[in-house]
Amino acid sequence: MGILEQFRLDGKVALVTGSASGLGAAIALALADAGASVACHGNRRPADETSDKIRSMGRTSQSFAADLAALDGAQALYQSVSSAMGAPDILVNNAGTIYRQAAEDYDLQEWMKVLQVNLNSVFRLCQLAGHKMLERRHGKIINIASLLSFQGGIRVPAYAASKGGIAQLTKALANEWAGHNVQVNAIAPGYFRTTNTSALQKDEVRNRQILERIPAGRWGEPEDIAGAAVFLASQASDYINGEVLVVDGGWMAR
Ligand code: NAP
Repeated sequence: MGILEQFRLDGKVALVTGSASGLGAAIALALADAGASVACHGNRRPADETSDKIRSMGRTSQSFAADLAALDGAQALYQSVSSAMGAPDILVNNAGTIYRQAAEDYDLQEWMKVLQVNLNSVFRLCQLAGHKMLERRHGKIINIASLLSFQGGIRVPAYAASKGGIAQLTKALANEWAGHNVQVNAIAPGYFRTTNTSALQKDEVRNRQILERIPAGRWGEPEDIAGAAVFLASQASDYINGEVLVVDGGWMAR
């Protein structure tokens, strides 16, 4: 098989959580462009628009709703996707939430919610998808980590703890599943222009400080993550396991 052929995703079913907007939408569109059928997931905002765009590209897509802050949200989502489109060959755990407050006053309910969405539900989806992937002896899991998988951040202790956990969970699952031809990896995005970072973009001082540290000299646009996602979803990355791939315009290199 030629090298470019190895990046194709024809015949694969992908589930991308949080694909109504931002990075998730860009990833869902890119996987579809490479040939996959894509289950798009939304919560407060439905992922219908992303699904419509995918169908207009001539690919298959359906949109699903689930609150991943709920204890049974991940299971309900996985079951609906599997019965409607078949068990996913590719799982992208992209949905994530952030809550900003000084650590000493940090609201414990918010702490639990961030951990539930960003880490617990991710583990549950990996477990559910992983079972089937192990049985079939093929599968790709991509967890969306963060620069705060490596750094502590300020006023976002739950987010940093959850994303640090994502990097470790990715390695733990890769160790157990690599021998069964199931690749588990993560992408750590740098500073991307989405709603997740709107508070930072609007803060003149933080915006300037961030741009000064990024060697590429600009915020990432959602499409900047597409290549890494297609690569890690494809056969081209079959010997890559437990990697946390940083896509950050050079931030971590500084
Ligand atoms: P975004 O547009 O706000 O996307 C976040 C998605 O997660 C939304 O679709 C949101 O859906 C979903 N989500 C949040 N809470 C949820 C819940 N309780 N149940 C189900 N889904 C939920 O922001 P984004 O920047 O694209 O974020 C995507 C991922 O990238 C996140 O994991 C984030 O931590 C990570 N990331 C982003 C950056 C960045 O610079 N933007 C940097 C590092 C990592 P609803 O709004 O409908 O609830």
